[in-house]
Amino acid sequence: MRPDEFRRHAHALVDWMADYLRDVGTLPITPDVAPGHIRERLPAVPPLDAEPFEALFDDFRSIVVPGMTHWNHPGWFAYFPCNNSPPSILGEMLTATIGAQGMSWATSPAATELEQVVMGWLRQMIGLPDGFTGVIQDTASTATLVALLTARERATGGRAGMDGLPADGPPLTVYASREAHSSVDKGVKLAGYGLERLRQIETDDALALLPDALAAAMAADRAAGFRPACVVATVGTTSSTAIDPLRPIAELCRRHNAWLHVDAAYAGAAAIVPELRPLFDGMEQADSVVFNPHKWLLTNFDCTAHFVRDPGALLATFQTAPEYLRTAYDDDVVNFRDWGIQLGRRFRALKLWFVIRSYGVEGLRALIRRHVALARELAGWIEADPEFELMAPVPFGLVCFRWRPAGRTEDQLDALNARLLAAVNAGRRRHLTHTRLGGRYVIRLVVGQRTTEREDVVAAWEAVRGAAVSGER
Ligand SMILES: *Cc1c(COP(=O)(O)O)cnc(C)c1O
Repeated sequence: MRPDEFRRHAHALVDWMADYLRDVGTLPITPDVAPGHIRERLPAVPPLDAEPFEALFDDFRSIVVPGMTHWNHPGWFAYFPCNNSPPSILGEMLTATIGAQGMSWATSPAATELEQVVMGWLRQMIGLPDGFTGVIQDTASTATLVALLTARERATGGRAGMDGLPADGPPLTVYASREAHSSVDKGVKLAGYGLERLRQIETDDALALLPDALAAAMAADRAAGFRPACVVATVGTTSSTAIDPLRPIAELCRRHNAWLHVDAAYAGAAAIVPELRPLFDGMEQADSVVFNPHKWLLTNFDCTAHFVRDPGALLATFQTAPEYLRTAYDDDVVNFRDWGIQLGRRFRALKLWFVIRSYGVEGLRALIRRHVALARELAGWIEADPEFELMAPVPFGLVCFRWRPAGRTEDQLDALNARLLAAVNAGRRRHLTHTRLGGRYVIRLVVGQRTTEREDVVAAWEAVRGAAVSGER
């Protein structure tokens, strides 16, 4: 593709992008496709000869887009949001255009230094003290794996990485609540602790970890010859946004010399709002904290903010220095390849910088305040309706609820709510998902999409009630 052709096609794509962002709310939010439908329409063998870009773009519009789920639709209430925003998209375009590797300072000095500056901004925005240093990882799952690996190295004095997990030392244990994200289980397996050594700690009525149960588990493990290595506490669990009490957990970590990793993947963005900051009380006592600007801070996937108290612990775990990567600057600079698993790193700081500057901290706060206020308003409507039941507190943007018409057994209610959710989603104008809390089927509605307005939440609630009324008959 010649430069003039690139320019022409790029302009056409940008026009498409602007139209898409304007009109996405008019599209069916989920595609009407059965498994295999898209593949059937694509050739199984690659083209031998070059095709004109127009043909690619046509197929993108006619085959790919109708098979997409539109996460940036104002009717998106599913999972947690995966926001983008116009400034973030523009940042990604420039990142893709420059196409640099950010593995070392020398491989693109501005990429490393902008990441340092923007992570410093973000640290201040969420109220972490300046003893913390930030790095951008690809996902929260990776950051949690990094924390588990770092904790493993600290607990074994670096032996696990050198010799393999020591056969003669005490076996290491990890603790998290029963409500913790599946990435903790995955990380515990990958980091060599073994899933049998993950202690799933009981929770209270609000689904938050019970510190007394954690204390008992850690003491029992100690007495039985285990070495508690890491506690993963969650602020904003995935099922219900429960908040583990960080202060008493941090105290237990200090007592047992265990690493405290705080997983605030979704909710962490809310720490930029001063009046929500108390929900993160004790976060400053963690060894590491993770949250995803790609969930609730308008930054394209992938962008995970990972803050650590001691970058030296990361270096001790991840640093390697092969000859072919050495540069003249290594003693004086940060090489982010030594702060995690990947060698090659995308220039992700650019989009985050664009977002923070385009909205300002106050603009981002206003967005989160709006979402939280709408979620709480919806929670009020649910509580006021005798046929519906709020199933968990609403500290952030997630509302967990179910339909509870009188005279049904719990099992009947589970089936009824699964049918209700399917009926609401079948309209393809909004999308909600479900979970189980205390064993019961619960509908989750997250207000967190950038363009979601009050009228969208009102319409979703009307759709739920409408489906309930017709489901009764
Ligand atoms: C979404 C989520 C994760 C995983 O996030 P990824 O960035 O997709 O890996 C981890 N923990 C919690 C609490 C989450 O909500």
